[in-house]
Amino acid sequence: MKEECGVCAFFGKNAEEKIYLMLIQLQHRGQLSAGMTTFNSNEKHLLKTHRGLGLVNSSFKAYDENKFKQILIKHHSNKGIGHVRYSTSGQDDLEYVQPFEREHGRKKKWFSFAFNGSITNYSELKKDLEANGYHLIRETDTEIIQHLISRFLKEEPNNLQNVFHNLAKKIDGSYSLVFINAEGTIIALRDPLGIKPLCYAEKNGEIGIASESVALANIGFDKIKEVPPGKIIEIDNKLELKDFLINNKRAFCMFEWVYFAHAASKIEEKLVYNVRYNLGKELAKLEKEKIDKNCVVVPVPDSSKPAGDGFAEELGLPSKEGLVRNRYLGRTFIETKNRGSKVRQKFSIAKEVFENKKVFLVDDSIVRGNTMKNLIGYIKEYGNPKEIHVRVSCPEVMFPCFYGVDMGSKKEFIANNKLTRNERIEAIRKEINVDSLIYQSIENLVKVIGIDEKNLCLACLNGKYPTKKGEELKNFDDNKIE
Ligand code: SF4
Repeated sequence: MKEECGVCAFFGKNAEEKIYLMLIQLQHRGQLSAGMTTFNSNEKHLLKTHRGLGLVNSSFKAYDENKFKQILIKHHSNKGIGHVRYSTSGQDDLEYVQPFEREHGRKKKWFSFAFNGSITNYSELKKDLEANGYHLIRETDTEIIQHLISRFLKEEPNNLQNVFHNLAKKIDGSYSLVFINAEGTIIALRDPLGIKPLCYAEKNGEIGIASESVALANIGFDKIKEVPPGKIIEIDNKLELKDFLINNKRAFCMFEWVYFAHAASKIEEKLVYNVRYNLGKELAKLEKEKIDKNCVVVPVPDSSKPAGDGFAEELGLPSKEGLVRNRYLGRTFIETKNRGSKVRQKFSIAKEVFENKKVFLVDDSIVRGNTMKNLIGYIKEYGNPKEIHVRVSCPEVMFPCFYGVDMGSKKEFIANNKLTRNERIEAIRKEINVDSLIYQSIENLVKVIGIDEKNLCLACLNGKYPTKKGEELKNFDDNKIE
């Protein structure tokens, strides 16, 4: 499972450096590419965009001090936006790297923007644009948004609030978006349901905006606030918060707490680490196995570590790093169709942790189940445990995500929703070949996050999509399976 992207923006001294540092902190949200656009009123090119493939460090050539400095000098500024990308739509080449800049002779219409999310009515919007004589070059919703912003800017060049109001009325889906124009106005906004996170902070006249609080805290901001869903932040020389499309409903993505977000981030004021730790504790309360000194807890690295620790603490067991993740692998897998070999490239086994032990393997989620199956096979072969009991801190994923999380179609999921819950879990247990399997319940997940169920997106767990188009796509995906 991969998150689509992370965004950030900065107003203040050395914006280029701050954006680079924030992107490093948002790296977990996208490793395909990174980029930034900065504004400088003294240059002929009022906006300058740097884009590169790979991790933030490679995109900004940080491996070569001179090249890195040249990029930062070229982008020296007091205003800018940044982006890290993983794609769920579009390909892996420079054409798709954000920010997308559109040059124009009129400053109000020359802009650059970046977004995190996914447009669920992409096909309709594409058809609509094509019917109006547009030619689309890429297979990505970013290009659609670019054309729509241009169109609305043509209609109302002096009112950015209305431009984004019109955009929001057109699109169904999730989005956190940052924008800058050649007059140096920064806009940041979050979809009216708040599916994707976005936060901001001000200190000593400087303003930072980022998908996650960890990026702002890292460059010295405190008092970090959530961008209210449906609100727009406009920055010329000071921050203004305006409405662009108010909706009283909320649909915060539960997976941000379970898996995507950095453990040190706060989402809706809840520390991600604490939520994961407490999910582990809650899971331990469901335990039926006999606990003795031969038991050990092993979390699947890295995002399951807090849940593993919480689970172990509740049961009075040690939590051990029996699976050691290769932290330097990045995206350099030796390409193979064999997932078993991918798992072996990714993890090493500390045999003594497993040997002859009753092992509780804690993971935060199982989607297709292939990785888990291969991991179990690998642990059995090299770790020689007495028993393996898998505990999952998120309930069964049974429905696709149409809001920017790459988890495929329902038919690929290991959890088949046509069975009863007990039958389903037993079928998965057999398939992954372990001694027992327990999943978190939806009720416990909601309780631990601490936000009313009606304000969370749980669509991939319960099939109830928070947007109209999401519901339509669910039926389409169901029909494909019949
Ligand atoms: S469907 Fe699942 S992953 Fe997608 S936004 Fe909703 S909760 Fe998040």
